[in-house]
Amino acid sequence: MNIRTRFAPSPTGLLHIGGARTALYAWAWARKHGGSFVLRIEDTDLERSTQASVNAILDSMKWLGLDWNEGPFFQMQRLERYQAVAEQLIAAGHAYRCWMTREELDALRKQQLDSGLKPRYDGRWRPERAKALGLVPPAHRPPVIRFRTPEQGSVGWQDLVKGPIAFPNAELDDLVLLRADGVPTYNFGVVVDDLDMAITHVIRGDDHVNNTPRQIHIFRALQAALPEFAHVPMILGADGERLSKRHGAVSVTQYRDQGFLPEALINCLARLGWSHGDAEMFPVGDFVQWFDFAHVSRSAAQFDPAKAHWLNQQYIKRADDARLAALVEPLLQGTQALGPAGGPPLHKVLALLKARADSIPQLAQEAMLFYARQEPARVEVAAEVGAALAALAEKLKATAWDRAAINGVLKEVVKASGLKMPQVLTPLRAVVTGREQTPSIDAVLELLGRETVLARLERQIRGA
Ligand code: GLU
Repeated sequence: MNIRTRFAPSPTGLLHIGGARTALYAWAWARKHGGSFVLRIEDTDLERSTQASVNAILDSMKWLGLDWNEGPFFQMQRLERYQAVAEQLIAAGHAYRCWMTREELDALRKQQLDSGLKPRYDGRWRPERAKALGLVPPAHRPPVIRFRTPEQGSVGWQDLVKGPIAFPNAELDDLVLLRADGVPTYNFGVVVDDLDMAITHVIRGDDHVNNTPRQIHIFRALQAALPEFAHVPMILGADGERLSKRHGAVSVTQYRDQGFLPEALINCLARLGWSHGDAEMFPVGDFVQWFDFAHVSRSAAQFDPAKAHWLNQQYIKRADDARLAALVEPLLQGTQALGPAGGPPLHKVLALLKARADSIPQLAQEAMLFYARQEPARVEVAAEVGAALAALAEKLKATAWDRAAINGVLKEVVKASGLKMPQVLTPLRAVVTGREQTPSIDAVLELLGRETVLARLERQIRGA
C-alpha cells in the first residue's frame, strides 16, 4: 500500500506546538513507509483565515524540515468540487437541501432546551418530511445542503491510537455539508479532500474524535473505503490545562525566535506523547524509523519548556561552529559589539562557548566578551597581585601565542608569585574581559589575541 498522510491546518494563527506535533507524526509516518505527505490549508473560515497565517505555517514547516510532497492545496480553490460531490450525494438520496432559517433554528433550539432535550436539527427538510409538513422551498433564499444521517444503529472504527470507538447514530443529527454560500463545512471538506487526495492515514488531534463518526458516514455514502484514523492526544501545559498562550511560548515561530535549533524542537515534539523506551535524545532519522502508533500515549501529554531548553542545549553543544556563527552574528549586529570583524573569528569563539550555552541569544550574550566595544574597567588589586600581572604581561610579550604556551606562562607566573591560582586568575579575568567568569582563561586569552590582552594588562599596570 502506498501510504499517504496529510497535515490540514486552518490558517487562523501561528503554527502551534500541538499542530506541529501532529504534522511531525503525519510526516514521519509517510517518510517511514516511503509514502507521501500532503499539505492542505483548510481556509474555509473566511473571517479567521489570513495569508499571514498561511505564510507563518509554511515557514514553520520548512524551518522544522517537515517537507511535503504535494500541496499546499487550498480548500477555497476547490469549491466547485465540493458542490459537485454534494450534488452527487443529493442524487443518491444521501443529502438534501434545507431552507430552515436562523430564526427557525433558534426557536427549535429553545423549544428543545425548554423540554430538557439536547438541541439538534429535526430533519424537517428531509424530502419526505417536508412533503408531509407541506413545506415549500422559498424562491429567493439559497438553501444549505444537509447530510441524511442514518437514524438507527451505530458507527465505529478501530482507532490506531485509542482502539475501538463507537457512537450511536441517534446522537448525530443531519449535519450541514455545504453552506448557503457554497463553502463546505469542515466535516464535508475534509472527507472530499481526504478522498480526492487518496489519504490512507488520517492523523490528527483527538479534539476531532467527535467529528470522525460524521465523516465515516460521508465516506460510506460516497461508497469509499475508509482511511485509518489515528487521534493523538492533546498537549497540556505544566499546570494540566490545555496548552495555550497563557503558558508562554507556544508557537514554532516563537521557539525559532528564541534561538531554538529546529532539530531540538523536533526531538522535543517527537517525545510529546510518544516514547521509545527511555530514549530522550535522538536524531529525526531514528524517530522516523521508530515511530509507531502503539507507542503514542492515549492520554494527554504535558509540555515542559525546561525539557525543551535542555534538549536545545544538547543540540547546541553538538552543532557545527560555522552554523552557530550564522545564527549568532545577526544578534551581535546592532548591539554594542564590534562584530567579528573587530575581534577573533566568531566560529572559534563559539567553539569555546557552546558547551555552556543553552540558547542562541545566550551564546550571543557570551560572545560579547570578545566583541564588546567598551574596554573593561580598571580593577583594584593588592600590590602582589599587581606585580604578578606585570610579570605576566612581560612573559606574554615573548611567548608563542597558543593555548598551551599561554597556560604554561600562567602557571609559571603564579608559582613565582607565591599566590594561589584564583588570586591571580580572577583579577586577570576582570582585567582582560571585564567579567568574573569566563571559559578557560588560557583559551580566552588566545582568542582575544596578544595585542588586546597586552593593551588591557598594560592599562591596568599603568593605573590608567
Ligand atoms: N483543519 C483542521 C484543524 O486544524 C484539520 C483537522 C483534520 O486533520 O482533519 O483542526
